[in-house]
Amino acid sequence: MKNITVIGAGTMGNGIAHVFAMNGYTVNLLDISEDSLKTALATIAKNLDRMVKKEKISEADKSDTLGRISTHTDMNTAVANADLVVEAATENENIKLKIFTSLDEAAPANCILASNTSSISLTKIAAATKRPDKVIGMHFMNPVPVMKLIEVIRGYSTSDEVTKTIFDLSKKIGKVPVEANDYPGFVANRILIPMINEAIYTLHEGVAGVEDIDTVMKLGMAHPMGPLALADFIGLDVCLSIANILYTGFGNPKYAPCPLLVNMVTAGKLGRKSGEGFYKYTAGSKDIVVADAFKK
Ligand code: NAD
Repeated sequence: MKNITVIGAGTMGNGIAHVFAMNGYTVNLLDISEDSLKTALATIAKNLDRMVKKEKISEADKSDTLGRISTHTDMNTAVANADLVVEAATENENIKLKIFTSLDEAAPANCILASNTSSISLTKIAAATKRPDKVIGMHFMNPVPVMKLIEVIRGYSTSDEVTKTIFDLSKKIGKVPVEANDYPGFVANRILIPMINEAIYTLHEGVAGVEDIDTVMKLGMAHPMGPLALADFIGLDVCLSIANILYTGFGNPKYAPCPLLVNMVTAGKLGRKSGEGFYKYTAGSKDIVVADAFKK
């Protein structure tokens, strides 16, 4: 493997491009938005600068890494020589199915097609191609350059050989791969999202306040971040959409999203990205306070 194409230059795509390029791979970064591509390159440069300052890499490593990344808006040129494509575009089933149908036509026959999806069925994505044995999930965690885990998800038809290739590659880029089968939420979100949902139920039912719940999980369970702060970080809309995937995917009422979560998303309180969720965030300030709605 030499040439990696990353599709989608947003939060995850730029991190994935960063990690592959830093490990010597040639990276073609593709997005439909020129602005996203520009922002991605600036973010990667800023994150590399931070590593230079911490003396983790040299100035030469930084410029070599940036030199290995090229940006594209045309899929055919971006995937012409790809050994692996990692798709990290917007989490929307229709968008992903369209991308994989086009990719199947544009990418070399031996190219492995991976998706970084958090919640969409890999078996469904694979069925949009004529090479379902070469379609696999590579679920990186945010922020990609920092987080060690890659959840490797096997679709129904993913081959042993492709799984092994992706395991070996994940280790080569300094990550720890874990294998999961293709069921709603895989492993990470199947456990994380019900925990967050239960924290929201605990708040909704008046058992404890926002900070109390987060403090119990931080100090009592050694979680680095409380579940409500984490929900704000992930985005409450994202939490709700994954909760709904678990609920409909398993048809089990235990996964029903808490009505408070549904209300907050409907009201546009999406967490950090909207400035308010369980906590209030002020641009340019590190001070985080409990949102007025939850003040005791
Ligand atoms: P994002 O919104 O930051 O970026 C998505 C990018 O995809 C945008 O730049 C957009 O222009 C681009 N895009 C949309 N349609 C496209 C197309 N047809 N072709 C090429 N590019 C296209 O999203 P993100 O948070 O980086 O999430 C990307 C993927 O990673 C999703 O599948 C998400 O579920 C998954 N994921 C996200 C996180 C997270 O914490 N953000 C963690 C793990 C996995």
